[in-house]
Amino acid sequence: AFRQVEHAQKLSSIGRLAAGVAHEINNPLAAINEKAGLMKDLLGLRPDFPDRDKFITLADAILKSIRRCRDITHRMLGFARRMDVSYEELDINEVLTDTLSFLDQEAKHRGVTIVRELDESLPRIMSDRGQLQQVFLNILNNALAAVPDDGNIEVKTGETTPDSLVISFQDNGCGMSQDTLEHVFEPFFTTKKGTGTGLGLSITYGIIKKLGGDIAVTSKQGEGTLFTIYLPKKARKEAAS
Ligand code: ADP
Repeated sequence: AFRQVEHAQKLSSIGRLAAGVAHEINNPLAAINEKAGLMKDLLGLRPDFPDRDKFITLADAILKSIRRCRDITHRMLGFARRMDVSYEELDINEVLTDTLSFLDQEAKHRGVTIVRELDESLPRIMSDRGQLQQVFLNILNNALAAVPDDGNIEVKTGETTPDSLVISFQDNGCGMSQDTLEHVFEPFFTTKKGTGTGLGLSITYGIIKKLGGDIAVTSKQGEGTLFTIYLPKKARKEAAS
């Protein structure tokens, strides 16, 4: 038993270090992302700029690598937070809006529309902000990867029962095959060879269960995918992990 405690302590200090580094890296990364995006916009306005296409390709490569770094830092933050849940009173719409602000720039560049239908009368709930941000980011990043450049993603919130509220993410992307649908929440299951880790949705599932909620997915190939999350309004501290 002692060794296990030791292991957990080691993991949590590595986790804290990882989260600290990831957090520090996020701000300069956001600045690089913004500047590279602006550079690309400027090039777009200058058809006579020498070697313009080459520079645009380079800017795209920079933006792509930034996305990869951001995925990694977010995962590191998520890893550290998976340890313990910290409950606070939250406005889910605000947590969603915060998370979406990370992705607005990329969506804009791709011509992807993110529609928000947030129910302003939602009650505040007891939940974990960092973990929910991780969940929303995982789902939204997948949706962004699935939609075409003029695609759209709909984010909705509402109340379902007196005890729970619902958050849904609908995209009009590539959708999933029956086989993919059956395995999406399994760790290391990915159809993105070379770029995917297959961890996003298994972490997402684990977090939602830990917060006492539930998550469902429906999808049709060639039409799109709908993720629905149910969250309890009151924290259930002894929810299964
Ligand atoms: P990764 O994104 O690294 O592959 P995830 O666990 O986040 O890992 O997702 C697992 C798989 O689920 C993806 O590889 C993809 O095939 C599928 N998937 C997830 N979200 C969507 C979506 N919105 N549209 C289509 N397929 C999706």
